[in-house]
Amino acid sequence: MTSVIERLRGETTAFSIEFFPPRDTADEAVLWRSVRELEPLDPAYMSITYGAGGSSRDGTIRNIARVATETTLTPMAHLTAVDHSVAELRNVIGWYAAVGVRNILALRGDPPGDPYGDWVPHPQGLRYAEELVSLVRSLGDFCVGVSAFPYGHPRSPDLDSDTKYLVRKFNAGADFGIAQLFFQPEDFLRLRDRVAAAGCDALVIPGVMPLTTPRTLHTTIRLSGAEAPQGLLDRLEPLAGDPKAFRAEGLDVVTELCERLIAEGVPDLHFYTFNRSKATREVVRRLGLVPARA
Ligand code: FAD
Repeated sequence: MTSVIERLRGETTAFSIEFFPPRDTADEAVLWRSVRELEPLDPAYMSITYGAGGSSRDGTIRNIARVATETTLTPMAHLTAVDHSVAELRNVIGWYAAVGVRNILALRGDPPGDPYGDWVPHPQGLRYAEELVSLVRSLGDFCVGVSAFPYGHPRSPDLDSDTKYLVRKFNAGADFGIAQLFFQPEDFLRLRDRVAAAGCDALVIPGVMPLTTPRTLHTTIRLSGAEAPQGLLDRLEPLAGDPKAFRAEGLDVVTELCERLIAEGVPDLHFYTFNRSKATREVVRRLGLVPARA
């Protein structure tokens, strides 16, 4: 089975897609319709996030197994250290391997309930994503990804320490990084430059969310941890009451962002899909990233 890093190091610009575990059977049907609609467009890989609790975690495990066994997609499973002992983490990793998932995004995760609350590791668990990278690596031939933050992780005191700990994750064996949401191409490129300036040649790819509604704009602002540039707000906020116009302008904004990233040699665009396919399909078609046969 192809590993994610092999696909990302390929000749052409690729795109990848991220989903979250469905909450119920209706949600699961929506997710699978979206997966089937995106599958012919040949994404480099498909990932499913890992939640804080039992049923959501079961949803990740059940659905990523289906991706591995029932689709042509390369699956990547997220995993966090939240509320897990090392023994439990070993179990989940072993289970991923058993169903054919060889790509893992290794994350520390946030405290359940309050993402900004105090991070308390499990007494027999891990403190940082770096340790999870080492654990996954020690358990077999996995391709490992990690998170990266264009504006720095919200808990990092400054960009220097943020970069230092990101590079430690690569030194521990991570193959590539996926960036949190950001607004301007330069914000991502500066992150790429910081990693390179630290003497690290690991690949970091940008995370992009199609801006289809005011809600997606607010989510982007919240997750980025930064203030949106006034120019972006001036383009989108006046359209908040007109769903069609907002969507059209939002997809223009995202397409322009992606075009500039591709022009800068970025080899993959990672789309946060919200478990829907239409907007991502539209953007990747406009970018010419769709195989001719699709
Ligand atoms: P770490 O890399 O461990 O970093 C956490 C903080 O500690 C940073 O400030 C870092 O600089 C600092 N740090 C790291 N190592 C050290 C050290 N050795 N000493 C001192 N400080 C250190 N969350 C989920 O719950 N489920 C998901 O599926 C999920 N998917 C994500 C996907 C992407 C692409 C991104 C960008 C984020 C995702 N998250 C997910 C959110 C993520 O779990 C949170 O941002 C979390 O707060 C940090 O996780 P991390 O892996 O970046 O942690």
